[in-house]
Order: sequence, then C-alpha cells, then structure tokens
Amino acid sequence: MGIIIGTIAQALIPSHQTPYTHPMTSNAPYIRAPAGDFVLPFDVKDAGVRGRLVRLDATSARALSAHALAEPAARVLGEMLALAALLGSALKLDGRLTAQTKSAGPLDLLAADYYGADGGRPKGVRGFARFAAAPPDTRASFASLAGAGSLVITIEPKRGAQMYQGIVALSPLGLAASAEDYFAQSEQLPTLLRLAAAPLFTPGTCAPHWRAGGLMLQTTPNAPHTEEDWQRLSLLARTVEDVELVDTSLAAETLLWRLFNEEEVRVLPAEAIAFRCDCDGERIAAVLRSYSPEERAGLADADGAIRARCDFCGAVHEIKDFPHPSTSSG
Ligand SMILES: [Zn+2]
Repeated sequence: MGIIIGTIAQALIPSHQTPYTHPMTSNAPYIRAPAGDFVLPFDVKDAGVRGRLVRLDATSARALSAHALAEPAARVLGEMLALAALLGSALKLDGRLTAQTKSAGPLDLLAADYYGADGGRPKGVRGFARFAAAPPDTRASFASLAGAGSLVITIEPKRGAQMYQGIVALSPLGLAASAEDYFAQSEQLPTLLRLAAAPLFTPGTCAPHWRAGGLMLQTTPNAPHTEEDWQRLSLLARTVEDVELVDTSLAAETLLWRLFNEEEVRVLPAEAIAFRCDCDGERIAAVLRSYSPEERAGLADADGAIRARCDFCGAVHEIKDFPHPSTSSG
C-alpha cells in the first residue's frame, strides 16, 4: 500500500485536503498528512531506503507547557520528543520506548517517552528535562548545555515483556548526531537523522507554543541497495532546513517532493501522534500505602493529603485515602 509521491506532486503545490488516488497501485484514496502531530513513513524502494518525517504541533506545545524551561533547553526537549516519535513509531511498538540522556552539563537529564497505540489509546509522546542553571545565551550550543554524557534508548515491547536497552556517548553535535551514532553501533544500519524545534510567539500569550520536527532516513535491512544510492539520498536529506521540519504550513508531501523529486518516493498513510502521559494516581497511592504512617506524615500537606506532581505532564495526584488506625474523629 502507499502512493508514489511523484504522481501527486503537481497537485500538492496548492495545499488543500483533497484525497489523491494512485492509479497504478491502489484504488484507495490517499489521505494527505495533517499539518501537524503526525509521523509520515515513506520509502524509496529501488534504493533500499526508508524514512519517516515527524512534525509535532499541539503535541509538543502541550508537552513543553508542563515545564518552565529556558529557550535553549526547551529546544533540546522538543527535539527529544521528535526523536522518540521517530524511533518508537519505526518499531511499530505497542509498548513504550524511552530516550533519555544523563550528562554533566546544566541540562543534566532529558527524557522522552513514546507510547504505542494500545487499548484504544492513541500513539503519544511526553517529555521531561532537568535544567539546573541560570538561562544561558539563547544560542547556547548543545555541548555547552548537556556536556559529556550518554544517550540511553530503552524499549519495552509491552508492559512486563523482555526489555531492550542500548547506550551511546552523547555527541557534542546534538541529539540527532548522538542517535546516528547509536544506530551505527547497535544496528550497523546507515541512518541519517535531523531534528528541530522552534517556539512560536503569539501576541497576548506569555509562553511560546513549541513545534518540533524530524526526518529519519535509513537503509532497509535485507533490501538490495548500493553505497551510491545511500550517499545520494542522504545528501539530499541533509539539505532539509530546520524551518521546513517545523513549518505546519508546508505540506509533508511537498517537503518530501522538494527533497527527493528525482526519486520514486512512496508515502504510506500518516500516523497520528498525540500528547500522552500514562501517569497513574492509583499506582502512586499503592506505593504510598506501603509506607509507614510516619513516612507518609513527612510527605503530607497540612490537610493530611499527599500531593504528587507528575514530572512529565504536570498533573497533581492528590492521595488521601490512607488507613488511619489512630484517627480521632470529632
Ligand atoms: Zn503525567
């Protein structure tokens, strides 16, 4: 399934939501990728190369709104969300993929989770960053923010299933370069990654609306391809600009056509990505119930309730139904 993008390219220039049909491969109408909050898989079959384009809009805005981060740190977290969406959706997981950095710089911890669709819940991402310093220059480099450290990718196919974990040293060039190193080491598949995030400032609102995007290109395992094909396609992919990745007014198919118009690129249906946090007040309550009353008293507010704030979504879970053996009621 899918559609060869060249056949719809001419029609793509004016942007509207008309379905297109590819007469050669399918009679099913092709539904254009939305403006934001999607991953669009594609491939160049003859070259043995596949790819994904991600663009987050409301999803990244919601994820970043839970954190009061200086702009350079928010930018890196936005990129981390796009990375998790690319990696997780490529694995077709129904469980969870976590990308996490630990490093020595002021931005010493970054985490993003991708959840596969399950039990009626959509595919989604969430993120968290710890930034322990005064806001630096807005153009601070990744190396000066994160410092030396590592990127850990954890894959949990399903809750309780066998976990897989891979680790790579952080590249001073950024998350995309670190993830490329990860693929070079762990899968030995030539992989290209580009990530970008940008704030949108709207008059009348004090916090920016963050968008994030990314492009991944990878050779297909066991598919015939030549070094020449890979070099040509990865060079084209490298010409993508940050603004093209985050611009919701630029149709995803148009962007792919701009990059690869001399190739036969086939696009598959876009997958929706939402903001999702699976934090669970009941699970926190269960942990707290295993504490002694004295330990709980140390955590409780004056009214006796314990309020736990989720680091990812900002939700405050209020837990107060603890057994009280020595309660005196009036
Ligand atoms: Zn949460």
